[in-house]
Amino acid sequence: MKVSIIGAGISGLACAHELEQHGIIPDIYEERNQVGELFTHVATILQIMNRPVKDQINEVYQKFNIRLKPYNLLTKIKMHTPKTSGTVYGRLGYLMKQGQDQDSTANQLLKQINAPIYYNYCANYTKLAREYDYVVVANGTSNITKALGCWQDVFKSWVIGSTVLGSFDPTGMKMWLNTEYAKAGYAYLTPFNQKSASLILVVQGANRNNINYYWNKFWEKEKFTYEIVELWDLEHSSGFVFPHQVDNILFVGNSGGFLEPLLGFALLGGIYSGVYAAKSIAEGTNYEDYLAQLKENTRISIALRNYLNKYQNENFDHLIALLTTPIIKNMVYNTNLDIIKHVASLVDLINKVKSLK
Ligand SMILES: Cc1cc2nc3c(=O)[nH]c(=O)nc-3n(C[C@H](O)[C@H](O)[C@H](O)COP(=O)(O)OP(=O)(O)OC[C@H]3O[C@@H](n4cnc5c(N)ncnc54)[C@H](O)[C@@H]3O)c2cc1C
Repeated sequence: MKVSIIGAGISGLACAHELEQHGIIPDIYEERNQVGELFTHVATILQIMNRPVKDQINEVYQKFNIRLKPYNLLTKIKMHTPKTSGTVYGRLGYLMKQGQDQDSTANQLLKQINAPIYYNYCANYTKLAREYDYVVVANGTSNITKALGCWQDVFKSWVIGSTVLGSFDPTGMKMWLNTEYAKAGYAYLTPFNQKSASLILVVQGANRNNINYYWNKFWEKEKFTYEIVELWDLEHSSGFVFPHQVDNILFVGNSGGFLEPLLGFALLGGIYSGVYAAKSIAEGTNYEDYLAQLKENTRISIALRNYLNKYQNENFDHLIALLTTPIIKNMVYNTNLDIIKHVASLVDLINKVKSLK
C-alpha cells in the first residue's frame, strides 16, 4: 500500500511510526530542511488535562511503543491574576523541548522511524491523492482542511514568544491571566534550566500588526527584568473539523482540529490522531471510529474556551483564588478526578439553566 504524509511534525512522525509497526513504509514530504518547530521553546504536557490517564508519557509508550523522554518533570505551577496569585505542587506533568535541537520531541520521534523524508518539498495534496492510496495531511495548518470544507474556526490567537535569561526554578512553571494584555488568552513561563526559560504570550484575536503592543504591555505590567535572547511570533489558532477524512485524504494534528482551544495544546492530540489515522489505513477501518475520545476532549475544551472568552479580570481573580484554596487544591491535584470534564459539565448545566430563564 502506498501512503504519503504531508509534514514531518509531531503528528506526521507519529503516523509514520504506527504505519511502520504495520509493515507500511510511507513517504513523508516536509517543506523545511529539517524536522521540528522553527523556534526552540519548552512545552508542557499537563496531567490534569489528560485524566484519568495518570502518566501520559508512559501511556504513549505502553499503547503505541513510542518512547518520549521529557526535558524535565513539572512539579510546581504558580498562577497570577491582576489581584491574586497561588501555587500548586505535585507531579503536575512534563516539560518537553520543542524545536530543532537533537533532544526536541520531533527529533526524538524522528529517531524511531525509518521512512524516507523528502525535505525541501512543498507537497500538493491533490497531486499526492492521485499518486498514493492514502494521503495523511499533517501540515500543522488549516489550509488543506479548509479547502476541503471541513474546518470551522474556534479560537484565533497570535503568539509571541521568547527565550529569556534570568533565574528560574527548572521544574516550575508560571502562568498569568490578565485581559489587559492577553484578553481571554494567557501568558506562561517554562524553564529550560536555572538560567533560561521560554516566556510566551498568547493573545486572543491579536495579529502580527498589534502583537507587540500586547507584549510591551505584558512586560510593563509584570515588571520583568529578564534579558531577551530570542523573540518570535506566529499565528496559533484552533478549529473544529468534520469529517476527518475526505476520500483518501485524512487529517491529523493541528490540521485535523486536534489543537485543543482551551490552552492551545496539541502534543498528545497530534500523537494520538497520527497513530489512529495509521491504524485505520493499515487495518482498513473507519478513522472516525477511533476518534471518539479525542472528539469528546475537543467538545469539552470548546465549551470551557467559550466560557473563558467572557471572563473579566475579576473572574480570573476568583478562579485562581478558588483553585488554590487548600480543599479545592487537594481535590484537583491530589486525586485523579477528571476535573476538566466535571467543570465542563457544570458549565453546560449553567448554560442550560440560563437559556431556560
Ligand atoms: C508557541 C507554542 C507553544 C505550544 N505549547 C504547547 C504545549 O505546551 N503543550 C502542547 O501539548 N502543545 C503545545 N503547542 C502545540 C503543539 O506543539 C503543536 O501544535 C503541535 O506540535 C503541532 O503538531 P503538528 O504535527 O500538527 O504540526 P507541526 O508540528 O506544525 O508540523 C507540520 C509540519 O508540516 C510541514 N508542512 C506544512 N505544509 C507543508 C507542505 N505543503 N508540504 C510539506 N510539508 C509541509 C511544516 O514545515 C511542519 O514541519 C504549542 C504550540 C506553539 C506554537
